[in-house]
Amino acid sequence: MTSRPYVVLSAAMSVDGHLDDSSDRRLLLSNAEDFDRVDEVRAGADAILVGATTLRRDNPRLLVNDEGRRSARLARGLPAHPLKVTVTASGRIDPGLRFWRHGDEKLVLTVDAALDGVRAKLDGLAEVVSVGTAFDWGRALDELGRRHVRRLVVEGGGTVHTQLMEQDFADELHLAVAPLLVGQAGAPRFLGPAGYPGGPTARMRLLETRALGDVVLLRYAPKQRLRDDVPDREHDLRWMRRAIELAEKCPPSDGAYSVGAVIVGADGTELSHGYSREEDPHIHAEESALAKLTPDDPRLRTATIYTSLEPCSQRRSRPRPCADLILAHGLPRVVTAWREPSLFVDDCVGVEQLRKAGVTVVELPELAAEAESVNAHLFGAG
Ligand SMILES: [Zn+2]
Repeated sequence: MTSRPYVVLSAAMSVDGHLDDSSDRRLLLSNAEDFDRVDEVRAGADAILVGATTLRRDNPRLLVNDEGRRSARLARGLPAHPLKVTVTASGRIDPGLRFWRHGDEKLVLTVDAALDGVRAKLDGLAEVVSVGTAFDWGRALDELGRRHVRRLVVEGGGTVHTQLMEQDFADELHLAVAPLLVGQAGAPRFLGPAGYPGGPTARMRLLETRALGDVVLLRYAPKQRLRDDVPDREHDLRWMRRAIELAEKCPPSDGAYSVGAVIVGADGTELSHGYSREEDPHIHAEESALAKLTPDDPRLRTATIYTSLEPCSQRRSRPRPCADLILAHGLPRVVTAWREPSLFVDDCVGVEQLRKAGVTVVELPELAAEAESVNAHLFGAG
């Protein structure tokens, strides 16, 4: 079993919603500050994806441009540049584009009918894989998951963004709005007409607004559309901050993460808490918190466990991973801040495993950096 990547859609658009104008020359929407932000987002990704139409139109190199960011990636054991991915159902691929000539590994996702043609055209410039008779985004994301892509940044174009948003595959949206008006009917749009989840009344969760000179960045969490049955976000953030405080109490270790966990009842009271290596050198935070309650405690049936790191799905030191323990204790809801990087295990699928078992898993990307910073020593000085 592999888990699909966390998908970030990244786009810059004019105030009237266009990615570009209708001319042959690419319209510059971003400013220097925003280009630097995009570079940072790329440096934090395992893969960058753009559609083949955008490749033909813009001829981008799609690299991490800042040398310091490339060195930091190398120091973490990653390639200097993320995997570059393009998708094509038509097989119209131009081997002369800059995309193929720069960076590290490249991958083309296509359909059965185009597979041989694309392979022949690229002649070894990239790996080419089919995701079915028609282009299937679920299979495409599975394929990237198998390649240990945990964080995917999608940089367009409009068709790709529209499909991923319509099929509810986008975890996060980074939208930079430039103070320009394109005003042309045929100019490409950020998102086109589609049946978006929840329809026009479903409000996406706003994660952040940031001014970068005259460009404004909006960060949304499309999967966290507001519904009446979703518990209060501030409540979740408050308990997660407590879990992160607990993570700071962990005895230091070079071979394991520092994690904190809190179990909170339906009435909003704390039932238990724990942190990594609390009582013995191998205990995990969730395990420690659960061990202080009995599995038949009826309050667990309506409780939430907050854990600063994604619950583990495999582990070396004990027979039962935390995702299993959470299922065995019957908790219906898990809130986590930080997805496990591929440092100690190849592929943590805790979130996926819990969701498949019917557990509601809420991720709090706005606290991921805090949860990770407790573990900064594991990643060296980079
Ligand atoms: Zn664990």
